[in-house]
Parts: sequence; C-alpha cells; structure tokens
Amino acid sequence: MSGDIWVLAEQWRGRISEITYEILALGRDLADEAGVRLEAVLVGSHVRGLADTLGTADSVLLIDHPLLAEPVTPTYADVLAPLLADRSPAAFLVPLTNISLGIGTLLAGELRLPAVNFCRDAHFVDRRLRATCVLYGGKIEAEVTPRGGATAILGIWPHARPPEKGHSKRLPGVEEIAASPDAAPAIRFRRYINPPAGDVDLTKQEALVAVGRGMRSKENLELAEALARGIGGAVCASRPVVDQHWLPLSRQVGKSGLTVKPKLYFALGISGAPEHVEGMRKSDCIIAVNTDPQAPIFNVANYGVVGDALELLPVLTRAVEGRKRAGGGAG
Ligand SMILES: Cc1cc2nc3c(=O)[nH]c(=O)nc-3n(C[C@H](O)[C@H](O)[C@H](O)COP(=O)(O)OP(=O)(O)OC[C@H]3O[C@@H](n4cnc5c(N)ncnc54)[C@H](O)[C@@H]3O)c2cc1C
Repeated sequence: MSGDIWVLAEQWRGRISEITYEILALGRDLADEAGVRLEAVLVGSHVRGLADTLGTADSVLLIDHPLLAEPVTPTYADVLAPLLADRSPAAFLVPLTNISLGIGTLLAGELRLPAVNFCRDAHFVDRRLRATCVLYGGKIEAEVTPRGGATAILGIWPHARPPEKGHSKRLPGVEEIAASPDAAPAIRFRRYINPPAGDVDLTKQEALVAVGRGMRSKENLELAEALARGIGGAVCASRPVVDQHWLPLSRQVGKSGLTVKPKLYFALGISGAPEHVEGMRKSDCIIAVNTDPQAPIFNVANYGVVGDALELLPVLTRAVEGRKRAGGGAG
C-alpha cells in the first residue's frame, strides 16, 4: 500500500470541472496531514494539456486514449481498476457528480474496496482515515472510518473546500500510464441529446421564485407565478416538481438542472437538499419559507420564514402589487 492520496481529476469536453479543484484542496490537506504524496488521476482523450492545471497535486497520472474521449463509467472504471490494484493508495477521492459518481462505486465493487459516498470532509485521526458524510438530504451527518489496509474510495460532495484553494501555478510532474480500453465495452457512448430550449432562461433572471414539493399541487404553482409576475422574475423548481411534470426540465435548479445566481431567490416549500442548494447557493439574497424549522434550506437562507408558503404567497403578492401601485416599485 503506497499510502498516497489520489484524486480523480474530472474533465468534460476539454475542461477540468470546478469540483476537481475543490477535491484537490481536500486531498492536499489529507496528504499533508499524513505526510504522503497527492496524485491527480486524469483520464480522457487529448487531455495532456489539462494536466498543467493540476499543480496542487505532486504529480499527475495520465491515462490518455482515443477510446476514453467520453466519460463512460464502466470504461473509465476498467482502465482505473488495474492501476488502483497495483499501486494501492490510501484513498481515492472521486467527485460525486453526474459524470463521475458511478466510477468510484464500480471500482469499489470490482476490487472489493471500502467505499463511502456523500463525503463533505475527511481527516486522519490516529493515522486512520475518518470521513464526514451527509445523510438524508443534509438533515444529519455521519462520521465513518473505512476498513484499514485497503484503498478507501471516497465519493466527495461539492463544496468540500473552496475551489480557489485547489488552484496552483506550479507545474506538476506527469506520468503517462498505458491503458488499452475494451474496444467492445459493455456500454457504448452514442451522442449527446441537448434538451429543447427553455421558454425562460433562468440564468439571466434577477429574481426567481423557486417552488418545491411543499407546494403540494400543480394548481398551487399559480400562486408562485403571480408573485414572479409582481417582482418581474420567473418561477423555477426543485427536482420533484419537474419529475411530477408540474414544470418543464428547463425550470429545474440544482445538480441535474441549472445553476443560477439571481439577486433574489425565494425558496418556497423546498427542503434544501444538497443537490438543490448546489444550484442556487450563490444567489445574492435567499428568502426561504418552510413549515419545518429544521429544514436545511435555512442554513443557506439570508431570511427565513417558518410558515405555510401557500398562505404567505398571496400576502406577499398583494404587498408587492400594493407597493407598485403606490409608486414604490417592486423592490
Ligand atoms: C443525483 C441526484 C441529482 C439531483 N438533482 C437535483 C436537482 O438538480 N435539483 C433538485 O432540486 N433536487 C435534485 N435532486 C433531489 C434532491 O436530493 C431532493 O430530493 C430534492 O431537492 C427535494 O426537493 P424538495 O425540497 O422540493 O422536496 P422535499 O425534500 O420533499 O421538501 C419539501 C419541503 O417542503 C416543506 N413544506 C411542506 N409543505 C409546506 C408548505 N405548505 N409551506 C412551506 N413549506 C412546506 C417541507 O417541510 C419540506 O422541507 C437530486 C438527487 C440526486 C440523487
């Protein structure tokens, strides 16, 4: 066992994902705590140039092959498995994103390694790795210790560290690793299908009224539409609202939707699961309305109201309209 710390450097379409830098910063902390090396593992096709941006790591293990042009989970896991088995780092940190989350899980299954997902932090305690994981959409957390003596696969949640901490101007050493991906893989990538253009571009709105499952029915969304019209914004939603076809996918905010940064973000009947918060936490001002005082959305809200969104919405809309009639604008 090398005892080193490895980070999967996620790249897509020729760009390193921001989460890679967050995890490099976490990996750097871990490697420094343990006095070991930090290695970034970069997989793709024609990605050599990206290695130079990974200087927070001591070196980069590069697996570059035309058959690795798209991040097909089993293919990536197949080329990583022999390397991991051969070198046995102490931990392999994998971004928990739509692109990479399956890779760590497949590796753990294939190599029978301990795996922990939803980690937001990790440390060495008495020379043993200890991870802090988010459970139940962020309502509680757990501290876990992976079995020692084997590489621990840690699926790392976004925002484990600020991405700026993972950037470095230093040029890392690069070790090229030969790989021969299966030319007849279990799953073959065909093409990307872009979603139909949305009716509203959420990313350009200054005010958003976001609705969640707490709105209870599609009919109740009219209450949110009325407030959005009043403040000159648009309605967006958490995933359950879109899954139930109350709104189209173009209105979804979060991990599998859009990232928005409006000046004002109302979160109505939204619990504040990490996958949702990921897409809206950089809003200038967040106002949350939720019946549950323990809802995690209050952890990111600038203003919070413990109450029924269905009762509050008409009151808010009337107040906005009244203010506009009085000539004070919607603000
Ligand atoms: C890989 C992956 C990707 C995901 N991507 C996304 C994503 O892009 N976007 C996203 O949003 N989610 C995403 N999710 C789902 C996410 O984990 C949560 O399940 C989801 O965000 C919860 O939506 P919600 O807050 O509307 O519903 P819930 O978690 O059910 O919360 C409803 C909230 O409404 C409150 N409430 C109930 N009635 C009222 C009322 N009358 N007034 C006020 N409050 C009320 C409740 O107290 C509760 O807090 C993803 C999950 C996974 C695993």
